[in-house]
Amino acid sequence: MKIHEYQARQLLAEAGIPVPEGQVAETVEQAVEAAKNIFAEGHKQVVVKAQVHAGGRGKAGFVKVVDSVEAVKESATFMLTNKMVSVQTGPEGLEVKRLLVAAAVDIDRELYLAITMDRAHRTNTLIASAEGGVEIETVAHERPDAIIKMPTHPLDGLEAWQARQIAFALGLKGKQIGQAAKIMMQLSKLQVRTDASLVEINPLIITPACEQHPDGQVMAIDAKFNFDDNALYRQKQVQGFYDPTEEDPDELRASKAGLNFVALDGNIGCLVNGAGLAMSTMDIIKLNGGDPANFLDVGGDASQEAVTEAFRIILGEKKVQGVLVNIFGGIMQCDRIANAIVSAAEEVGFNVPLVVRLEGTNVEAARAILEEAQSRLPTMQTADDLGDAARKVTATVSAA
Ligand code: GDP
Ligand code: MG
Repeated sequence: MKIHEYQARQLLAEAGIPVPEGQVAETVEQAVEAAKNIFAEGHKQVVVKAQVHAGGRGKAGFVKVVDSVEAVKESATFMLTNKMVSVQTGPEGLEVKRLLVAAAVDIDRELYLAITMDRAHRTNTLIASAEGGVEIETVAHERPDAIIKMPTHPLDGLEAWQARQIAFALGLKGKQIGQAAKIMMQLSKLQVRTDASLVEINPLIITPACEQHPDGQVMAIDAKFNFDDNALYRQKQVQGFYDPTEEDPDELRASKAGLNFVALDGNIGCLVNGAGLAMSTMDIIKLNGGDPANFLDVGGDASQEAVTEAFRIILGEKKVQGVLVNIFGGIMQCDRIANAIVSAAEEVGFNVPLVVRLEGTNVEAARAILEEAQSRLPTMQTADDLGDAARKVTATVSAA
């Protein structure tokens, strides 16, 4: 599960990590009100930031540092009335429903700091770079030596010596070292405590030297958190951050029916049972030159109604030009799938080619149901095995 930056900032602040103050706004008026409060406290600049579950906002023009209420109004109006298109959103972009209006800070250096699971080493690993900001992916790709990695202890998190070692490697000086080391250790504890699969501060900044802080201050001005869904049951605060309006509507519908559904870019809708079989089904579609429109695992014992809902979702997607059903009935009974196909045909209608490959429990009963319903399913073809099914569906879709 993902959360918004303003929610991530709240978690950081509660963990003792310095974050500039800010307020959430859903309207231009609220944004102006928030900015007035920040200016009244003596800040010279505010930053207006779109709150969406995607990054790359700075480059897309959806993070604006401004120095007047008038400019806040202009930026807020722009962000709330235009879709944000960034490298992370796809060309259709994302609607912005909320803004964060925060005190802006002067920046001397931008660093990168994150902790995530390193599956190859089976540890949580802290990742840091002296070259933080908006191009971290490019840095990681072109100059991997500019990225520092440090495994953390599974229970105790990052240790003090490790944090200091990273602070030195980042080229920090004087009081910056202690401040940054403390932030790293707090972040590590927070990651373990909240069952986060990713905590990322980009940028972690150092403010320019001033009289009060001759070495500058280290603070977080952007944050991204992802959480392990399997641990959500014990993370009440994180559950409260859930924002259904940021989810793909079809994925949301599917999860309500207990289906594992991920929308993809292709045009062949897939209905499969078991994640492994779903993956290999997608592979074999690709191998035959096709492109899956979704990943859909109906699971082991989905009800007939859940399977029918799965067909409703797949057939409701305009991009779907063909459907492949691939079921290996173990616990799942093939006749339940066959009945769901028939009820989906009656309810929504298969106006696109449908290729069905069923094997396993109750397959004979399932074949009888489909045979009986063949006249109501004019676009249906059956297949002998997965290879045959993939060939048939890709052939009909590319011919269409
Ligand atoms: P992202 O592009 O979605 O990662 O959004 P960020 O919050 O990281 O902002 C992008 C960039 O805007 C940062 O790397 C900074 O360079 C700049 N920025 C964001 N907030 C401030 C601020 O308070 N002051 C200044 N001077 N720059 C900021
Ligand atoms: Mg950022």
